[in-house]
Amino acid sequence: MDLAAISAAAQAYECPDNALQGKVILVTGAGDGIGRAAALTFAEHGATVILLGRTPEKLERVYDEIERRGGPQPAIVPMNLAVVTPDQCLELSNMLGAAFPQLDGILHNASSLGNITPIENYDEGTWDTVMQVNVNAGFYLTRALMPMLRASNDARIVFTSSSVGRKGRAFWGAYAVSKFATEGLMQVLADELENTGNITVHSINPGGTRTDMRAQAYPGEDPLTRKTPEEIMPAYLYLFGPEGAKHTGLAIDAQ
Ligand code: NDP
Repeated sequence: MDLAAISAAAQAYECPDNALQGKVILVTGAGDGIGRAAALTFAEHGATVILLGRTPEKLERVYDEIERRGGPQPAIVPMNLAVVTPDQCLELSNMLGAAFPQLDGILHNASSLGNITPIENYDEGTWDTVMQVNVNAGFYLTRALMPMLRASNDARIVFTSSSVGRKGRAFWGAYAVSKFATEGLMQVLADELENTGNITVHSINPGGTRTDMRAQAYPGEDPLTRKTPEEIMPAYLYLFGPEGAKHTGLAIDAQ
């Protein structure tokens, strides 16, 4: 499998308008940045989007924007992944199970940046929060929602990685370690689900993208030198649309 060639195809992907018609897709961190763009893009291609995030006002604005554009009515799930428990994820699964017959995708996108500092100085409280948001919450949500994913005839689980989750870099601390763990979770799940037929699992590295998190990590950078979240959406559509069913365990780059 030539991942560079697949990434190139994903970046240039032109998705048919109704490719996600009838799909139900959960997006974490859907209120801002890349998650917001993904939610709007999936809705534009016909999906019913479940908007999960910690700031209800932001989720409501995305909800209104989807409605304004004539997309399928979305759902809002206010949830702070820094404190979410496995039981709360099970409650969410029960709630979604009562509202939707199946779940066709999860985009694990929400993430905590933590501190940019040497390991020697890294604060353990921040470390725990980053691992909770970026790794544990993704595990809890995936495990709880697995029965709903199994009810789909063609589902995706997509984890959000980073270049520092594929090659370690000084000072990126818990964030980098959490993204390595994210890649690990993706690979284990992809392998476990490979022969079950209906669920493929991938990771995507957005690459430097014009968002609040990027500005926080690189305060001296001119944001205009970075692609917008909207510009990297072809790769997301590639994974969530029919192309994403052809392989499992892909670790692609969105730019
Ligand atoms: P943003 O900070 O712009 O958006 C992150 C979203 O996640 C926000 O909506 C935020 O909510 C939500 N979120 C953060 N913490 C929690 C939490 N505890 N519970 C629930 N929701 C939460 O980030 P990006 O859009 O830039 O990043 C999206 C993903 O892409 C992340 O996984 C990031 O690691 C990855 N990435 C981004 C890159 C970039 O250059 N932008 C590069 C490489 C990877 P709220 O709005 O309420 O704060």
